[in-house]
Amino acid sequence: MRRIIYCSQATTDLSPDELVALLETSRRNNERDGLSGMLLYSSQSFLQTLEGASATVERTYDRIRADTRHDNLRLLLDDESAEPLFAEWTMGFEHVDDDALGDELTGFTPATVYPLVNPDLITNAGVALTLLGLYAKNATA
Ligand code: FAD
Repeated sequence: MRRIIYCSQATTDLSPDELVALLETSRRNNERDGLSGMLLYSSQSFLQTLEGASATVERTYDRIRADTRHDNLRLLLDDESAEPLFAEWTMGFEHVDDDALGDELTGFTPATVYPLVNPDLITNAGVALTLLGLYAKNATA
């Protein structure tokens, strides 16, 4: 099984309706393709993990990379031998606010722009995976 983790910068501050539309498409496609994962959104930045068969993860990431709703993608992890961690989610989602991020990320100060693409906060894939795992526990289905 393959797992990737990437972060990216939203090109606009997405409204709740826009986030719902994005999630609906993602969940529909991921269910069809046997993918699972988790997506965080905070202050116009995304952190996402995708798990599944290698070729399928690759094809999906190619589509995601071409999406104009975000840019400045940074791949934090690409692990071919990963064990599934988010199998219950076709795409778990959490809109994370400043208070919650402040509790979880060392060095976070409120009103930090694009926190999830900030290498000072998301220092490595281990930090990213821990953060995604924390929110997977109470993510919206
Ligand atoms: P379509 O049926 O072609 O489109 C679905 C809906 O998305 C339509 O309403 C369309 O208007 C809207 N849409 C598509 N592109 C844009 C755009 N650039 N701007 C505004 N609206 C648009 N896709 C997945 O399959 N799995 C994922 O896990 C996943 N995660 C994503 C995470 C992020 C942060 C982002 C930004 C996108 C993600 N996507 C994901 C969406 C992906 O980029 C493609 O838009 C989607 O896979 C296209 O699927 P489709 O051809 O079935 O959608």
